[in-house]
Amino acid sequence: MGKRWLGLLAAGLLAVGALIPAAPAMAAPTFKVPFPCGQSWSGQTRTNHSPAYSLDFNRTDDLGDPVVASAPGTVDRVTDLGGTSYGKYVRINHGGGYSTYYAHLNGFNVSVGQTVGYGKVIGWVGSTGGSTGPHLHYEQRLNGADIQVRFNGALALYWGTKTYTSDNGCGSSSGSGTVNTSGTPLTVRSGPGTGYAAVGTVADGAKVTIHCQTSGTSVTGTYGTSTIWDRIGSGRFIADAYVYTGHDGYIPGVPRC
Ligand SMILES: [Zn+2]
Repeated sequence: MGKRWLGLLAAGLLAVGALIPAAPAMAAPTFKVPFPCGQSWSGQTRTNHSPAYSLDFNRTDDLGDPVVASAPGTVDRVTDLGGTSYGKYVRINHGGGYSTYYAHLNGFNVSVGQTVGYGKVIGWVGSTGGSTGPHLHYEQRLNGADIQVRFNGALALYWGTKTYTSDNGCGSSSGSGTVNTSGTPLTVRSGPGTGYAAVGTVADGAKVTIHCQTSGTSVTGTYGTSTIWDRIGSGRFIADAYVYTGHDGYIPGVPRC
């Protein structure tokens, strides 16, 4: 391509660029159910709730159960209103005008200015403020106004009671292991099996981060026979039979690939 054409192309790109709005609306964060991964909670919406689109969460014996951040953000309010309104509540600023509220808490586990991610425990279910029994009062807001709650982009039930199961923080944990081959380097494969291409090796004794685990070709190694394969990078898998993880099967908390 000649220089003249490049110049014309650049001019064209500039012209297109000028048409893009200076501050496009930011996409909503992917909000998740504000409880630890795997838990199921009954969530209720009702027309006489204040504000209208709030969601009240309950489950059996929920007093003191952990409440987690719905999405990554910065805690910008940790407030105790005493025996009125929200009582003890936390607000998280998610950017783009989005925020979430967690009210009637029993106690706090975060402070103002703290950065939180999915699954971070921010407090515990309580019955503080104008509450008549333990529950979590939860809100999503945009520019200060309450909006209809969505989890993973799916609208909550308005109006009524529905069970919501949390996938909050399920995929955020990784495990670690140590390769043990008694000498030779361990072959890294592009997929979870010996039939996949060899894409490298890891040295005996190397520490590896395991992002997820899956089932593949059965391999007999230092730690017996296993079909588990560990993903240690993008397109990089090693046989778990050669990795000391402290667990005979899958590592608790590490997701399936
Ligand atoms: Zn409420």
